[in-house]
Amino acid sequence: MTCEDVRPRLLDQRRGRLDAAADAEVRSHLRDCDACTRALAGEATLDELLARRLPRYAAPPALKKRLTLLGSRARPPARRAAWLRVAAPALAAGVVLFAGGMLAGRATRSDALAALAGEAIGDHLRVLVRDRPFDVESGGPHQVKPWFAGRLDFAPAVPVPEGSGLELQGGAVGWFLDRRAAVVQYTLRKHRLTLLVFRDDGLAWPAGTRERDLRETTQRGFHVVLWRAGGLGHALVSDLDASELRAVAVKLAAGS
Ligand SMILES: [Zn+2]
Repeated sequence: MTCEDVRPRLLDQRRGRLDAAADAEVRSHLRDCDACTRALAGEATLDELLARRLPRYAAPPALKKRLTLLGSRARPPARRAAWLRVAAPALAAGVVLFAGGMLAGRATRSDALAALAGEAIGDHLRVLVRDRPFDVESGGPHQVKPWFAGRLDFAPAVPVPEGSGLELQGGAVGWFLDRRAAVVQYTLRKHRLTLLVFRDDGLAWPAGTRERDLRETTQRGFHVVLWRAGGLGHALVSDLDASELRAVAVKLAAGS
């Protein structure tokens, strides 16, 4: 496997979602590749920060700066390896516990919304701090949408509504709690927007959320709009002004 093959699989590897053969190939690559090992450590650190350490209402610029610093900090190889061995199992367990709590389906309306939004913001932050945020660069929706075929067990719409001002940047496969997600990246002026699309069966949604009802919330200075359409959950995240993000979500929901 080359670095190109390994990078999109790092998050899967961390979550134990690779089959034995792929897992062995990724591990063997990691033994010899410092850059990919650093990328894996970055994912682990990000998970940890997102799960426990970040102040809940930190302003986005301060938050982004901290994450960027963290991503670029070089660790000595031996120390890094030791740190990973100790931290990775605990972090993985934390992710599973959190997902398990979500899936129990007993959350109140505000808990359910907060939990879904928190996961979406985590995914958005991952995109912001990665040095290679896309697995496919955009040449337009006709390039990004087919790229997801065979990588997901559903076909996400990749709309670019006319007059929305959105520019499609690219896409990647990520995770939303316990399931794979299409991670679609847009810009609107200087703002970056992440649209996550994932299967919505078994997820705890705020009670009474009907098809294409928009649910909105703000955490850590990021706005999140969530909706369900055709068996798929959608989460749109940005630091864009809340009313402007809602207007974009209305257009995206109409096309999803
Ligand atoms: Zn590599």
